[in-house]
Amino acid sequence: MKKDKVHIHWYPGHIAKAERQLKEKLNLVDVVIEVRDARIPLSSSYADIKKLLGDKPKLLLLNKADLVDKEELKKWVSYLKETTKSPIIVTDAKGSKDLSLVVKHAVELAEPKIQALMAKGLLRRAARAMVVGMPNVGKSSVINKLTKSSKTKIGAKAGVTRQQQWVRINPKLDLLDTPGIIPTKQDDQLQAVKLAFVSSVSENAYSPEPVAGALLEMLSEGKYNQAVCEYYKVNELSLENIATARNWLIRGDNLDTERTAIYVLKDFRDGRLGKFILDELPSAEDNDCCSD
Ligand code: GDP
Repeated sequence: MKKDKVHIHWYPGHIAKAERQLKEKLNLVDVVIEVRDARIPLSSSYADIKKLLGDKPKLLLLNKADLVDKEELKKWVSYLKETTKSPIIVTDAKGSKDLSLVVKHAVELAEPKIQALMAKGLLRRAARAMVVGMPNVGKSSVINKLTKSSKTKIGAKAGVTRQQQWVRINPKLDLLDTPGIIPTKQDDQLQAVKLAFVSSVSENAYSPEPVAGALLEMLSEGKYNQAVCEYYKVNELSLENIATARNWLIRGDNLDTERTAIYVLKDFRDGRLGKFILDELPSAEDNDCCSD
């Protein structure tokens, strides 16, 4: 991708505030459930996550799995299991499958901490967990699913900041009912533009044409090119070709590439273009540098 064509703007003030709020919440929990968008398993992670989480145990959910290529996803699960040393669970928080595996792993990951507290003479208590992730990856959907069967709001805990509501998922697990939002700042514009593809950055931060153009360019370089060309009935993927095929014109005979860009992004986000993973799986040699 020609990086100079697109620019995503970040707001440093927002990022600092998001980090601060996230840290406050992290102090309350024993285990973290990190949600990523399975279409961009690396780009929807945060470069500083390790610093933010410290040594808190983490469970990693690759959500929106219904929108990705299943064979590719298997390779990503192996890669992430190896590099993050965390349990990886593939989820579709919109679908009907329950998330009992998430509960099971969260309880297991928190157990050493609970045991350590008991060794200090405290009574056994339920493990405390929270869901974190970038905007739009499906955090609220995951929380809703986890808490659906449990109506037990147990309110604020002693000594714990105002407005933090906990929900008892089962006798062994309490979940914070609001997620921790990981800021979407990425130093790398290529990652940033992928976050824009999946609506993880605000639409105010970019204009649709260069972002949709970058998406088409990325799709045309990979194995998905033919299927997407067939969908739009064009020989080569570009906003101009798609606007021509659809006869989308503006002010006389000019191609309406802005309208086309908005539609292309929507088609991708709704899964109409196919099931893709847009990050590149790092090779074995890269593993040392790129784990989180
Ligand atoms: P949050 O900003 O991380 O809390 O994300 P939300 O839970 O609000 O979800 C953002 C959008 O993604 C909503 O339109 C959800 O319906 C949708 N969504 C969440 N999880 C999934 C999923 O697994 N698959 C699909 N296709 N859509 C999902």
